[in-house]
Amino acid sequence: MNGRRLDLSSDPPISPPPQRPAPGARPFLGIHFACCDVYTRIYVNRDATAYEGRCPRCSQPVRIRIDPLAGTIARFFTAY
Ligand SMILES: [Zn+2]
Repeated sequence: MNGRRLDLSSDPPISPPPQRPAPGARPFLGIHFACCDVYTRIYVNRDATAYEGRCPRCSQPVRIRIDPLAGTIARFFTAY
C-alpha cells in the first residue's frame, strides 16, 4: 500500500497578465449634442483610437477619432 500521493502538478500554466487601463482613469470629452441640446461626456474606447458615446436622449451615436499624431484634438465638441 502506498499512503503517499504523487504531486505531478509541477508545471503551472502561465498566462499573460491582462492589459487593461486603470479604472477611473479613462479620459473623456465633453460633447454637446445639438440634436437634443444636451451636454454629456463620452469616453475613450478600449483601443484608445476614438471617443465614443451616445446622445443620452435620442441615442444618436457619436465617434470622434483620436489622431495618433496630434493626440486629442480639442476638449469640447458639438455633434450635429
Ligand atoms: Zn439627441
